[in-house]
Amino acid sequence: MFRKILIANRGEIACRVIQTCRRMGVATVAVYSAADRHAMHGQEADEAGFIGPAQAAASYLDMDRILDAAKRTGAEAIHPGYGFLSENSEFARRCQKAGVAFIGPSPESMDAMASKSAAKALMEKAGVPVVPGYHGDDQGKKTLEKEANHIGFPLMIKATAGGGGKGMRIVREAGDFGDALDGAKREAKNAFGDDKVLLEKYIEHPRHIEFQVFGDTHGNAVHVFERECSLQRRFQKVVEETPSPFLDESTRAKMGEAAVAAAQAVDYVNAGTIEFIVGADKSFYFMEMNTRLQVEHPITEDTTGLDLVEWQLRVASGEKLPLAQKDITRAGHSIEVRLYAENAAKDFLPVTGRIETFATPAEDYVRVDTGVRSGDSISIFYDPMIAKISVSGRDRAEAVARLNETLARTAVFGMVTNLPLLRGIARHPGFASGDYDTGFIERELDTLLERPAPDAAAVAAAVALLWSGEDSADGAWQADGWRIAQGAGWRLLATDMAGSDHDVRVAGNPREFTLEWSDNSHAVRHGPAGHGITVDGTHFAAHVLAQGRRYQVALDGRAFEFDLASPFATRGAAASDTATHPVSPMPGRVVAVHVKEGDEIAEGQALMVLEGMKMEYTVKAGVAGRIEKVRHAEGDMVEAETPLVDIEAEE
Ligand code: ADP
Ligand code: ADP
Ligand code: MG
Repeated sequence: MFRKILIANRGEIACRVIQTCRRMGVATVAVYSAADRHAMHGQEADEAGFIGPAQAAASYLDMDRILDAAKRTGAEAIHPGYGFLSENSEFARRCQKAGVAFIGPSPESMDAMASKSAAKALMEKAGVPVVPGYHGDDQGKKTLEKEANHIGFPLMIKATAGGGGKGMRIVREAGDFGDALDGAKREAKNAFGDDKVLLEKYIEHPRHIEFQVFGDTHGNAVHVFERECSLQRRFQKVVEETPSPFLDESTRAKMGEAAVAAAQAVDYVNAGTIEFIVGADKSFYFMEMNTRLQVEHPITEDTTGLDLVEWQLRVASGEKLPLAQKDITRAGHSIEVRLYAENAAKDFLPVTGRIETFATPAEDYVRVDTGVRSGDSISIFYDPMIAKISVSGRDRAEAVARLNETLARTAVFGMVTNLPLLRGIARHPGFASGDYDTGFIERELDTLLERPAPDAAAVAAAVALLWSGEDSADGAWQADGWRIAQGAGWRLLATDMAGSDHDVRVAGNPREFTLEWSDNSHAVRHGPAGHGITVDGTHFAAHVLAQGRRYQVALDGRAFEFDLASPFATRGAAASDTATHPVSPMPGRVVAVHVKEGDEIAEGQALMVLEGMKMEYTVKAGVAGRIEKVRHAEGDMVEAETPLVDIEAEE
């Protein structure tokens, strides 16, 4: 086994690898960029080396600097995590040359799977079913059009070098093909420096089900069961679970065999994932292989009791796989949700900012993988994932119930996250039944984002906390800062997330009070912290998480959020007119400017394209009119809410 390894990554996955190393007695070296000087991964590792500026291209993607750091510190191996250099075969080759073990597959297997089209050709040969389509070299528009018509609609255009949902388009009819092709090629060129595409039949109402595979240098290959990853937005995973609620035993067995065959076809060594797209009729097709550890590996670990990072280290140091296929078993059910700094209500745009507080309940069925702590920031430079929260149960029903409880008691204060969306998914009957497909989130978005208005019990719990000044049941919380003057009879304003105000009157003492709320009077009893709250004779398990005026109350697995303020507090100023003065919805870089001063424009016309945090966003005109001023040029970096263009609206 290695004595010391370097982790060429950051955030949650770097911290995750460090944990296993610590348990195995392997020393760790972290690398960090200028944006990560105080980041958790650098502090958790035994040693940490600075590798350059915030931009990934000049730090986490700079092979020279990373190899230098390995040499300097005497690291015997490099774990690439995921993203960054993890699927870069040139990096794996350079590690080999430098005499440092790359904890991952051989550069040859990476190359074989790097292009989605070459991989598909290889899989066809190995007898693994692939989605019908075109994955040829001739990229002429005529040829692609002909092939598209041959495949039929709907179809998908994919960047062959693709990943992270970029360079991908669904085309529903022949007339839309040309524009979609141009868009996909442009995005692919920007993201991967390669505009080659493939065409694929679009499988309707599909499920994304993938198999974890593992190979060693002694010719062994196994699978470690599947993960269902159909809950996606913008073709990217949000919730994953295992076992898949969709598979029957016979389909599962066939897919497992196909996954192992796929791995063997490229002499695969170390951890990898075979992704399948599965039709409503349970027909399954190879989609791509990810030649690295997967973001959602925790649920595989939670149900099998294995440590996949440990397996990675063992295999990379030349050991045999610890278990044979027949000895790999699993029990129970596990669900992972990805907590992202993004606004689900605004097209899932990433957001940046400081996480004032991040807290999750300390239950033994909850696993939290994260690289941030309260007080840390999410910057424009890297992935906006804050944490992965995995919950396990003896069966799916128990796991789903626990997920609801866990998310109700999870809080992030200080910035917008997709936590409300995650809660919406957890409580949705379609999720509870397991009957969902990759279009679920988009279809159900309005329902998923509904935020329950606080009820009297929720407000009562918050008032009890506010009044007593005690820590909440979780022990980790305090209503800091704001206190209302005590006395007989207070008035409060509870503002729910929809912006509605509720006038609340309170009278009594901290243990027993009446709460007047929406013309009703409620009798409240409140025991010591952790004992919940009784409202009109009904008892609730209550957890209050508070910061400043903002309260989050968990009542029996439901979460309510609201502000509680003195009715005399002042309100924020109104937003400016964004129709005529569009602003950047996220921090990023201007990659294209489509208008100039004096141009006449139509409503909805594209003005600028911004890029930041793994995505591209087109800013459109909110009104028809004439361009008065263009405030930014291509290449400019802009903060969120920065005015971009001034439009003089048409009369
Ligand atoms: P997976 O296929 O493993 O489920 P996705 O395809 O959703 O994951 O996204 C994985 C990609 O996300 C990685 O290839 C990487 O680009 C990026 N990514 C996510 N989280 C991180 C992180 N903490 N550090 C670096 N890259 C990350
Ligand atoms: P990436 O490299 O970005 O992960 P994938 O090829 O793995 O790209 O596809 C990402 C997602 O796109 C899938 O999880 C699925 O939701 C959808 N998808 C891909 N191919 C198809 C297809 N042929 N039919 C329907 N949906 C598809
Ligand atoms: Mg994929």
